[in-house]
Amino acid sequence: LLEVRDLTKTFQVPGAGKGRGLRALNGISFDLKRGETLGLVGESGCGKSTLARTLLMLERPDGGSVRFDGVDPFALKGAELLAWRRRVQMVFQDPFASLNARMTAGEIIGEPWRTHRSLHRTAGERSARIRELLDLVGLRKGDEQRYPQEFSGGQRQRIGIARALALSPDVIICDEPVSALDLSVQAQVLNLLNDLQRQLGVSYLFISHDLSVVRHVADRVLVMYLGGIVEQGDTESVFNRALHPYSAALMSAAP
Ligand code: ATP
Ligand code: MG
Repeated sequence: LLEVRDLTKTFQVPGAGKGRGLRALNGISFDLKRGETLGLVGESGCGKSTLARTLLMLERPDGGSVRFDGVDPFALKGAELLAWRRRVQMVFQDPFASLNARMTAGEIIGEPWRTHRSLHRTAGERSARIRELLDLVGLRKGDEQRYPQEFSGGQRQRIGIARALALSPDVIICDEPVSALDLSVQAQVLNLLNDLQRQLGVSYLFISHDLSVVRHVADRVLVMYLGGIVEQGDTESVFNRALHPYSAALMSAAP
């Protein structure tokens, strides 16, 4: 579904000479297959969010390529670009900060349609779809009228997931989606993501520093270190036979 080859991204650093700077992505290559969960782990600052932002086309890479069903999204313009943007969506870490407190759950979930106007053109269609999405993520009829503050952390994360689903994406990038939640709520949200994957066939790029969560949810794992991928493979083989010194140390420290 998604093929990433030799992706590089350098941030300019004040004071550094031209062409020098901070190498946030240093030759990243991997594939994401349809319907799979690809775990992405690595220490703080290794480039996980930069990779996520590049796949969302919020950052332009300096080199390398991204192919989505064979298409280079960075070469698209206008309506084609807009249509492409629907296909990759994001769920954020902090369900408190990432939802607008002045909007109802229904307005939040339907917000992506303000940019993507060809979807659900009538108010009736939109509210029917919002109720469907609420149901899909385990929230109740009537919840669309309530504000984020009136929900628990886990319920807010469900609203964030419903918003990510509003455009029927192929890929959802989950950046630490359960890190801000209690353990029992984490399990509920992870089960929800798993159910949605089985029902809808979405793929996840699942970013987390929590190795037990990654081991539980991921089919395959990428381990990033200093802007590069030092290990990738089936989750169990990476956990059992990590080869690179960084990933071996990471895995041996896992609970
Ligand atoms: P964390 O686990 O803490 O979220 P991360 O792996 O997501 O870390 P990134 O946010 O991708 O790390 O950052 C990678 C590197 O790029 C860091 O050294 C960071 O300081 C740098 N960086 C990220 N965004 C920018 C930017 N807009 N301008 C300059 N440097 C940046
Ligand atoms: Mg990050």
